[in-house]
Amino acid sequence: MLTCGVDIGSRTVKLVLFDGKKIVDSLVSLSGRAPQSQALELYQELLANHQLNQSDIAMTLATGYGRNYFELADRASSEIICHSAGVVHYFPNIHAIIDIGGQDSKVIQLGENGRVVGFVMNDRCAAGTGKFIEMVAQTLEFSVEQIALLALDGNGACEISSMCAVFAESEIISKLHDSTPVDVILRGVFRSVANRVVALGNKLSLTGPIAFTGGVAQNAGVIEAIKHRLNSETLFVPPKPQITGALGAAILAYRSAS
Ligand code: ADP
Repeated sequence: MLTCGVDIGSRTVKLVLFDGKKIVDSLVSLSGRAPQSQALELYQELLANHQLNQSDIAMTLATGYGRNYFELADRASSEIICHSAGVVHYFPNIHAIIDIGGQDSKVIQLGENGRVVGFVMNDRCAAGTGKFIEMVAQTLEFSVEQIALLALDGNGACEISSMCAVFAESEIISKLHDSTPVDVILRGVFRSVANRVVALGNKLSLTGPIAFTGGVAQNAGVIEAIKHRLNSETLFVPPKPQITGALGAAILAYRSAS
């Protein structure tokens, strides 16, 4: 039996094809101006890649920002539930999940058997999200992938004190003018992202093993900054952290269809 998880996020659409044990395939693309048609296109691509028809998929479950509008979905579920199911698939004993996506960040607290016991979300402000990191990359004329690597090379971090992404950008420009090295600025930026998300998590209790997911969990600079902020060498990052929600959706679909 095969199921499909579709995560329609504010920045990207993610699809996972699941066989009950492992990911058979996954696809990611930008949501663009028409996320629903993007998701449909990606769904057809996934089926075509495996010579499947829609009737071969026992259940399709949608999640994410656009979950209620995907016409091929049999069901929809919240990102919180789907992310948790995706993380628990890899790390059954995890206590909390930090998720940083394109335009929001959230912290989910898990209890016994991966049950969600609380969550907090920032979807009001760009600071502390992937969008903010993209703005910084643009200001510094590097790609997001490049700034992640640049931050790993060197020591020390400057303070980025502005609470707003727009003001933080001016702060970064003034640091460039006073010749602060780019890697020092970047570690400062990533630490400010880490400080924000950990402060968000402090509204719950961030104890025990913590996982990090979302597109931004592909940024090794942010991983280091969160470890630094948590004062811990251990942060569990699943393989392909961007597709965790879609994986969780596919897992929940599998359980429902079994
Ligand atoms: P959403 O679910 O909110 O649509 P995602 O979880 O897909 O968002 O995350 C999108 C964010 O991840 C974007 O801000 C993007 O810049 C960032 N991102 C994607 N790939 C990478 C990468 N390889 N390295 C660093 N950041 C990345």
